Amino acid sequence: MASEPIAPELPRVTAYIALGSNLREPQQQLQAGFAALARLPGSELIARSSLYRSAPVGYGAQPDFVNAVAALHTALDARALLEALLAIERAQGRVREFPNAPRTLDLDIALYGEQVIEAPGLSVPHPRMHQRAFVVVPLAEIAPLAMVPGRGRVRDLLGGIDAGSVTLLRQAAA
Ligand code: ADP
Ligand code: MG
Repeated sequence: MASEPIAPELPRVTAYIALGSNLREPQQQLQAGFAALARLPGSELIARSSLYRSAPVGYGAQPDFVNAVAALHTALDARALLEALLAIERAQGRVREFPNAPRTLDLDIALYGEQVIEAPGLSVPHPRMHQRAFVVVPLAEIAPLAMVPGRGRVRDLLGGIDAGSVTLLRQAAA
């Protein structure tokens, strides 16, 4: 019998997940990441951005990244969502070697509705998302009017980043 893990009447929040990969066929890692997000309990994948290429941040001697953003309607609370994202990262073979190291898949909660969360191991909005072109550009593609608490609408962040540092790699499927 099919199980319904989360009651359908639970309120759902629109969360935006930033995906990044620069190891082992990054485009496929992102496609697998989208598919895993679509399978999360109590959640529906409602949009996915195009794939973008960006230069690595922080530690330069590594391959370029492929980045994208997904929109999820979810009944998972932010902590449960983070745990689920970390489990997907592990399932796709992520090993944490050092900060900013190359990774098969990084999944960050960029936005969780308009909530501000400051908890151990969980900061939402993701503290650096507003200044990262590889988050802002794909996010602006799928949610230009979304509100970033304390910073205004996503499309207004475009003026503060170097949009030219990310290049369109593959258009989102229609
Ligand atoms: P980064 O994504 O900054 O390169 P990691 O992916 O290694 O680094 O994440 C390190 C930790 O960041 C995670 O274990 C998680 O607890 C924490 N973290 C804090 N806020 C968030 C968030 N909004 N989304 C994802 N991880 C977060
Ligand atoms: Mg991360």
